[in-house]
Amino acid sequence: MSSKSLRQLPSVDEVVRSHKLKQYVSSYSKHLVTRIVRDVLGRMRADIFAGRKGDVSMGKIQELVAEQLEDMFKPSLKKIINASGVVLHTNLGRAILCDEAIDAIKISAGNAVNLEMDLEKGERGNRDSHLENIICYLTGAEAATIVNNNAAAVFLTLNTLAEKKEVIISRGELIEIGGSFRIPDVIKKSGCRLVEVGSTNRTHASDYISAINKNTAVLLKAHTSNYAIVGFTSSVDLKELVKVGGDRNLPVVEDLGSGSLMDLSRFGLPREPQVRESIEAGAAVVTFSGDKLLGGPQAGIIAGKREYLQRINKNPLKRALRACKLTIAALEATLKLYLNHDTLPQKLPTLRFLTRPAAEIALVAEEAARLLKQRLGSDYSVKVEDGFSRIGSGSLPEEALATKVVSITHMETPPEKIFAMFLANNPPILGRVHREKFLLDMRMIEKGEDAVIFPISNF
Ligand SMILES: *Cc1c(COP(=O)(O)O)cnc(C)c1O
Repeated sequence: MSSKSLRQLPSVDEVVRSHKLKQYVSSYSKHLVTRIVRDVLGRMRADIFAGRKGDVSMGKIQELVAEQLEDMFKPSLKKIINASGVVLHTNLGRAILCDEAIDAIKISAGNAVNLEMDLEKGERGNRDSHLENIICYLTGAEAATIVNNNAAAVFLTLNTLAEKKEVIISRGELIEIGGSFRIPDVIKKSGCRLVEVGSTNRTHASDYISAINKNTAVLLKAHTSNYAIVGFTSSVDLKELVKVGGDRNLPVVEDLGSGSLMDLSRFGLPREPQVRESIEAGAAVVTFSGDKLLGGPQAGIIAGKREYLQRINKNPLKRALRACKLTIAALEATLKLYLNHDTLPQKLPTLRFLTRPAAEIALVAEEAARLLKQRLGSDYSVKVEDGFSRIGSGSLPEEALATKVVSITHMETPPEKIFAMFLANNPPILGRVHREKFLLDMRMIEKGEDAVIFPISNF
């Protein structure tokens, strides 16, 4: 029985030479088509051996080969419409870059550039030279460098300043960020010994002082960006901690997480700790992300006192964690927008989305609801409602931004199914399910340039 089915299978060569695959051979090469045919026939043979019944006709084989070839050439990374209501969504690549950064990436990507070339001296230069001055200008730091992301920035800083020594941190700051970044683990992997002090809700200066000994190398402060401890609480602020460290010649390192380069309250947003404030308070080193509130590419920025930055730059691990020319190009362009606070909210997409007027979001929501009603038909209920967006990436917890959402419900279809239907669209549309309703947040949907806000194809 199974040997009969096996004998029915055509040879690899027969399939490759079949008329139907001719166009694939000419566009994808005979070599590749042959490999895929071998794969498909191999899987069918295994199915037959295992007694699984299925269509093993020539037509089916050709169809599977064509499907596999086409899948192989489709880009895996594709555009998604972010209607989730989370502005800085880690799973969607966080900040959307400004036009200036995109242009800068294009130049760096397609050309030789002076990444490590001093054009005045005609000698080898330093890749930090493109960013250090502007980071120092914007933060007040003496020196700065960048690495791959903020996790790398924390890791490199601790490894440089405290390897084989002790790092003291409050128990209230032993944070975990989504995606397996846990401060205690990073401290250990940096080669340092973690010393926890205080309690979850209360830590005092005396707790740090009594833990300090000859093995102590760093006092670490981590911004509790994705949660808040409320109620009977007490923590040692940076200034006080710098005083404790200064008296004993110990540097204070602060992991700010998002870290802001300006006072966001001038745009009506809640205040997030600013890098400049930490530098002014005397932190030896401050680390923060390039792609959170800053609105740039994935990067970890390390800013602080020159003596510590010099040591960090000399660490051989720095080379392993360094950023590429595309990141440097994009970050430079993004940081330059901060030189003009008046144009920043228009030019920087992250800030534009965060400060978008409710009336403008409402207009987009009305238009989207009208189009979706037409498209989905009368079985669906489509309404514009008030809702809340989130900043995301652990920034500004507790704070929600008033927005307008389009809610979509159906008598028989559960919201999870509608969610999946929108995600299967081309391009995928990411909404969210909240209280038995499927919601599309319009905060990040730009006004429809071609009058079609949602290019819905599949339903
Ligand atoms: C987000 C965050 C990190 C990790 O930053 P990445 O840029 O994602 O590597 C570290 N510490 C804090 C406090 C954070 O909020």
